[in-house]
Amino acid sequence: MPSFHPPRRLLLGPGPSDVPQRILDALARPTIGHLDPAFVGMMDELKELLRYAFQTANTLTIPVSAPGSAGMETCFVNLIEPGDTVIVCRNGVFGGRMRENVLRVGATPVMVEDDFGQPVDPDKVEAALRANPGAKAVAFVHAETSTGAASDAATLCRLAREHGALSIVDAVTSLGGTELDVDGWGIDAIYSGSQKCLSAPPGLSPLSFSARATGTLKARKSPVQSWFLDLSLVMGYWDGSGGRSYHHTAPVNMAYALHESLTMLKEEGLTAAWARHRANHERLRDGLQALGLELLVDERHRLPQLNAVVVPEGVDEAGVRRTLLDTHSIEIGAGLGPLAGKIWRIGLMGASSRPEAVDRVLEALAQALGRRA
Ligand SMILES: *Cc1c(COP(=O)(O)O)cnc(C)c1O
Repeated sequence: MPSFHPPRRLLLGPGPSDVPQRILDALARPTIGHLDPAFVGMMDELKELLRYAFQTANTLTIPVSAPGSAGMETCFVNLIEPGDTVIVCRNGVFGGRMRENVLRVGATPVMVEDDFGQPVDPDKVEAALRANPGAKAVAFVHAETSTGAASDAATLCRLAREHGALSIVDAVTSLGGTELDVDGWGIDAIYSGSQKCLSAPPGLSPLSFSARATGTLKARKSPVQSWFLDLSLVMGYWDGSGGRSYHHTAPVNMAYALHESLTMLKEEGLTAAWARHRANHERLRDGLQALGLELLVDERHRLPQLNAVVVPEGVDEAGVRRTLLDTHSIEIGAGLGPLAGKIWRIGLMGASSRPEAVDRVLEALAQALGRRA
């Protein structure tokens, strides 16, 4: 069996995004022991870089050793106990996964539903909080990758806090791509992914808990149902104060890659990264418009890093994606759930958010559709 050599793609789907050579180089550095003092020093830097990206001073800020879905699960298993009530906002596929997590923890989800493509409606959330006075948390997705809609995280977290509930925020696609201010918005528990706007390979899930969330974890009546994701155990490894103890072997080389990607984000600056994502989105929007293509989400709620394009009547949705991949080596995403077959998802995340990438996908779409801009 020969070694595996993947094709070179332009990754413009819902993640992973293009990984810059500088990050791939970091990944290829020598593996060292996960308790080696040199690695432990790097872990401290990694936590500091994550605090910058999240804009937080939270002590409990780490990358979970698994992809974004594990970050989601970490929040629910640590903060929610059997019998709790959780207000879960569903305006796309990932809100549905939050509901699954709540059920599996043995808690009761109270659903706040909005149409796919719409943001979460804060009025509905407020009504749900009033109707469920003891609710433990409000859970929602900041950037719905399945639809391309952004929700107002600052308002939703303020409402949760006013009603004595924690906020659990999915920032898998927002971190590094659009404004996110964990401390300023009073977010209690947040998780992300390495492979979206951070442009590292998939496999790590940045996570941060506020003092309030950490207090909730400490005050639990029952043990966390997952041994691997139990943060009270994981922190014995990530928090150096009492000397580090073995919990699991961190994915050492992936930690190098995330460290490099966060260093690049810091070099660019958060606000510059957000502005770049917006500018390239606008370039794409204008090009799509010239091709006669429409975006699903209303301008006010559009995510610059995830563009849901309405498939025109009579066009073979899967056929166009296939042509882009086979002829142009460009990956774009399909619709999920009720939007399957109805939209394409063009991600402009992290290193994939650049003008040449926009121009390449517009040119490829024009050819595949037989249209001229
Ligand atoms: C990608 C994504 C996830 C899941 O992350 P994985 O790394 O695929 O496990 C969760 N939520 C949102 C909003 C996402 O875009």
